[in-house]
Amino acid sequence: MKLTIGFLYGRLMNIYGDRGNVVTLAQRARWRGIDVETVTINAGDELDPERCDVYVFGGGQDREQFVVADDLAAGTGERLTAAVADGAVVLSVCGGYQLLGHYYRPHGHDELRGLGLIDAHTIAGDTRFIGNITLHGPLGDLVGFENHSGCTYLGSGALPLGTVAQGSGNNGEDGTEGAYTGKVYGTYMHGPVLPKNPALADRILTEALERRHGPVTLPPLEDTFEARAHESARSRP
Ligand code: GLN
Repeated sequence: MKLTIGFLYGRLMNIYGDRGNVVTLAQRARWRGIDVETVTINAGDELDPERCDVYVFGGGQDREQFVVADDLAAGTGERLTAAVADGAVVLSVCGGYQLLGHYYRPHGHDELRGLGLIDAHTIAGDTRFIGNITLHGPLGDLVGFENHSGCTYLGSGALPLGTVAQGSGNNGEDGTEGAYTGKVYGTYMHGPVLPKNPALADRILTEALERRHGPVTLPPLEDTFEARAHESARSRP
């Protein structure tokens, strides 16, 4: 069995350790004897909708988002959308998450058009939300770290990852954090998010493998360290 991971805009969108999500998915697959290939897709590269099973789309500052939004509009967005329609999985974080919604409106700038893969929109606010997040939701209790000024508002087509018990989440108002629609996930949790949330990592890994291999049941891993990291993050003020 083989897994191919696409690191979207790896040079531009990799803030606060988000590349660690690529490393986590690759390692949790290799620990199960699965062959892994990792591909970095940068601005100007041609994304092959057939090649990758899962894409990691990290965060970045507004200036990086301007470049990425242009590249998405120049064709990469259509190809990523085609990959998703064919069963590829996407984990997007913060700036990447914002560009998978309908639009992101930065301060003093016109809206950056998003892909609409997540039914949400984002407007830059006056508060920068910085700190630890803990949330409870249908995918379990999750922990992470946020640093964003964008306020994301979900439409009816998107389910939140959960409700924040600590932190601001999507917008600091409605208590939601993140979103998912089918196999497209968005979150404000940097850190990276997956090492401290092994159940979420394995959910994404399973869905990615199922694109080409049909139903997959991953054997459990010895997650003592991951659980300790999760509890340590959860207990932070
Ligand atoms: N520029 C966006 C914001 O500030 C995203 C930042 C990020 O990816 N951490 O909301």
